[in-house]
Amino acid sequence: MRTGGCLCGAVRYSVRGDPVHVRRCHCANCRKESGSAFTVYAHWPVEAFEVSGEISSYDGRGFCPRCGSRLLDTSNPGDTLIEIRIGSLDEAPFQLKPDDEIWVKRRESWIPPVEGAAQHDESATQHDEN
Ligand SMILES: [Zn+2]
Ligand SMILES: [Zn+2]
Repeated sequence: MRTGGCLCGAVRYSVRGDPVHVRRCHCANCRKESGSAFTVYAHWPVEAFEVSGEISSYDGRGFCPRCGSRLLDTSNPGDTLIEIRIGSLDEAPFQLKPDDEIWVKRRESWIPPVEGAAQHDESATQHDEN
């Protein structure tokens, strides 16, 4: 069991077990919305996830309306996985390592590849951005 939440504490969540997938993304949208050079997120089965507190969203990107912390992607009915920004987990380091990296063509030259992670120049799946 892992717990996480936003910076101000208004949103709290928990996830059971290990994620099915961990990814680092260097795309332009992830840069903009995080204000950083990349994001790291993981997918858990929706039934392994519980949340308390209010979440606002922009284009499916869920965040705390009070402190602005990016937490997760809001799921649609029928989704089997939930995407969570693992920087929002309570325990650091979180000991979850990316299985792959996407939008590697936008990775900064001073960021080394994750050892052993699959490298995708652009998106690995359809829904990923730019
Ligand atoms: Zn907050
Ligand atoms: Zn991205």
